[in-house]
Amino acid sequence: MNSTTLVIGGGISGITAAAELADAGRQVVLIEKEPYLGGHVAGFHNYFPKLCPPSCGLEINYQRIRSNPRISYYTGARVTAIEGGYGHYEVTITLEPRLINNRCTSCGKCAGVCPEEPKAAYIPGGLAFPMKYTIQADLCKKEACGKCLEVCPYDAIQLDACAATVEIEVGKIIIATGWSLYDAGRLEHYHYQQEQDVVTNLEFEHLLAATTRENRQLTRPSDGKVPARIAFIQCAGSRDVNHLPYCSAVCCGVSIKHALTLAEAYPDIATEIFYIDIRLPGRNEKLLERAKATGRIKFTKGKVGRIIHHNNRSGLTLEVEDVMAGGKRYDAFDMVVLAMGMTPNHIDKDLAVNMYGFYLEGQPSGIITASSCKRPMDVSSSVKDATAAALKTMRR
Ligand SMILES: Cc1cc2nc3c(=O)[nH]c(=O)nc-3n(C[C@H](O)[C@H](O)[C@H](O)COP(=O)(O)OP(=O)(O)OC[C@H]3O[C@@H](n4cnc5c(N)ncnc54)[C@H](O)[C@@H]3O)c2cc1C
Repeated sequence: MNSTTLVIGGGISGITAAAELADAGRQVVLIEKEPYLGGHVAGFHNYFPKLCPPSCGLEINYQRIRSNPRISYYTGARVTAIEGGYGHYEVTITLEPRLINNRCTSCGKCAGVCPEEPKAAYIPGGLAFPMKYTIQADLCKKEACGKCLEVCPYDAIQLDACAATVEIEVGKIIIATGWSLYDAGRLEHYHYQQEQDVVTNLEFEHLLAATTRENRQLTRPSDGKVPARIAFIQCAGSRDVNHLPYCSAVCCGVSIKHALTLAEAYPDIATEIFYIDIRLPGRNEKLLERAKATGRIKFTKGKVGRIIHHNNRSGLTLEVEDVMAGGKRYDAFDMVVLAMGMTPNHIDKDLAVNMYGFYLEGQPSGIITASSCKRPMDVSSSVKDATAAALKTMRR
């Protein structure tokens, strides 16, 4: 019986499960398909319920990973085969080259000379783990350019690096592959693809993060003007038999968080949230009280039927069924944020899923599913579920 556990997915859930197992004395291999750990949370501006920055939860966990020799981690890594069974899983992992080796000190000279736009050499803003640059192979002209090779003082650039394969044997596997956003392009009545100022909640989160990081004003994508009115459309495609029939549990909290952040940082921007009903389980309800107390956020009960697309002028007109006023309303906004729902990420292996595609609890022996790949969850619930997954791994 091999006592090492493989954790697939390096978001807040996978990191938590790995750190808990290692603290309990187990050997852990953590793999993440992106070049950096942290998952979605690492890219957030802040997170509810307390509206703290992502560093609050991530920094301490990164420190746990750095300081515990029982954890080895791979980024840019994917499981390409899982053979064997309980106690003896043979796993093949394919590692994408980051084209920059471990000698990188993150001095940034490579990005400074990179002529591509967006830059091929990058490091994510905010918290990066590992704190090293990556070169995106599809954006880089390699030796035909070679400017980064010339300026790197540490001989860290490796433009000819190839993908590698690692084979490991583990006893158990935790799957914490998280979620992806539902495709907003499928909501044709909201014209997401035609209107630059119709954005998803995840794009808006990244916009807020970037404006704070770069210390600049929040502007709308189409013309760079400061928006005077922003609408939030709840249940965009969620609780809808034609799209996602389920509730994603976090979207109300996310939109209220965004509106609150605007009310506190940009008091001149008016916000209105259009909802079917507000769902904020547990202590997240305090967020609603805090939002209402600002007196700056308007809540309207009503489904937005469509966004009217004007071919030749800017601005977005919403057609909404205003339930409390008892009639249809047409109102113009400068930007619209769609509260999109979460869909599960899978690994390349057939595992049991529920009717919505989320992983079930019951899997082949030794495979334990954790957190938001099982159902939509907020960070606090994800961390608890990941801790429970670590415990189950130790017991089974
Ligand atoms: C717009 C938005 C804002 C949100 N804001 C908040 C908030 O303020 N507060 C809050 O509590 N919750 C919030 N949430 C929910 C929060 O994002 C989730 O609770 C959290 O991301 C769950 O973490 P996770 O690790 O389970 O998943 P993820 O963050 O999705 O991480 C999963 C990781 O697994 C990796 N992965 C996937 N497939 C593979 C594979 N095959 N091999 C290797 N790695 C893989 C991914 O790259 C990713 O890094 C928000 C959700 C949305 C949509």
